[in-house]
Amino acid sequence: MKMVLLGPPGAGKGTHAKVLKEKYDLAHLATGDILRRHIKQGTGLGVKARSTIEKGELVSDILVNEMMFSEIAAIPREKGFILDGYPRTLGQAEALEEFLKKEQNPLDLVLNFETSEKVIIDRLSGRRVNPSTGRVYHIRNMPPRREGICDDSGEALIQRKDDAPETVRHRLKVYTDETSPLIDFYQKRGLLQNIPGDFDVPELQPIIVKLFEKLSLIS
Ligand code: AMP
Repeated sequence: MKMVLLGPPGAGKGTHAKVLKEKYDLAHLATGDILRRHIKQGTGLGVKARSTIEKGELVSDILVNEMMFSEIAAIPREKGFILDGYPRTLGQAEALEEFLKKEQNPLDLVLNFETSEKVIIDRLSGRRVNPSTGRVYHIRNMPPRREGICDDSGEALIQRKDDAPETVRHRLKVYTDETSPLIDFYQKRGLLQNIPGDFDVPELQPIIVKLFEKLSLIS
């Protein structure tokens, strides 16, 4: 199964990707996580991407495509994958299509998380992360056992810089301007499936599983 998760920041793409990865033994490539790893490791790409990410802007297509093509190429062919947060521009979608065509490994579907602004703001303002491992919590929906402390490592949780309210507003505008045209792009290719991103995991997972069955992606 090879899929793209499409939707604004806070739509729940990462949360669902983690569940689907475990359930169906898929590779999970989250562009934001990979870029943050580069920043932490101080790679050339990380140095170039850091201020762009902190401002809530998009990293250039050239850098992101190159990074993602090498990540995808490293996945064993028999294993499916989830692309989470990629592509995010028409340029990236076209480049990805070309790359997967050359690899003779086309996408099976694109899950489009239709999510309201109210839910997005609530999820992002309450999101807390472990800066070392990337494990994500929410102060109400998915709280750690001890407030502000990671259950796994005991480290202090932080709020991502780009989850600050004014940066969130900017990221939503970037989504509308740059990423939402991909809905039409994938609809034209017959790959798009809309799902209700306002639902939390227990409500939405069964809907996704039914969809996979309907599309004969699982039996
Ligand atoms: P995310 O964790 O998916 O919210 O991504 C965090 C940030 O990483 C975004 O706001 C962008 O600055 C950058 N980023 C993630 N994915 C992409 C992408 N496909 N293209 C460009 N920038 C990206």
